Amino acid sequence: MIAIAAAALIAVVSVIFLLKQVTEAAHCRRKLLSLYSNIHIHTTRHAGHHAADIIAVATCRNSALLGVEMTHARSNYWISVLLTCKPGAKRSLTTTNAALESDYIYINWEQFFGTNYPPNYPLMYDRHMRNHWGMGVNVLTTDGRRFWDYRVRWLRDFAQKHPEYELLLPD
Ligand SMILES: [Zn+2]
Repeated sequence: MIAIAAAALIAVVSVIFLLKQVTEAAHCRRKLLSLYSNIHIHTTRHAGHHAADIIAVATCRNSALLGVEMTHARSNYWISVLLTCKPGAKRSLTTTNAALESDYIYINWEQFFGTNYPPNYPLMYDRHMRNHWGMGVNVLTTDGRRFWDYRVRWLRDFAQKHPEYELLLPD
């Protein structure tokens, strides 16, 4: 009886854990959609040129909408919200290190392709395997596709096919 109860408890905890992971991964993909929208706004406003770095991606929408320079604290808040993978995370990123502390890696391909990006190249993805308990990462491609990359197989495959880009893989 106790064994059955223990097994049932483990099953329930496992299901809750799995649902939490699925929810968090979905939240992360919505975050990538927001960031892709920012990237689009940036290219529209800068004659097709992509944001130089992830901070430019995170801040372009707000400065575009408000039309004013944001205060340091406010921009820092938005950077933190946008560049954190987990829902409800309230950690603060120091502005100078925000690119490094970001949960995402962003790639500007202009050095290779100018403003004419090829489709289906990785544009942004989870920086750390720990973002999703080591199970995989979310990827956003140059043509706006977002998908779950189980065990980072797609990114590893891309890196192997294109060693010339020296792609930084999630750690
Ligand atoms: Zn994520």
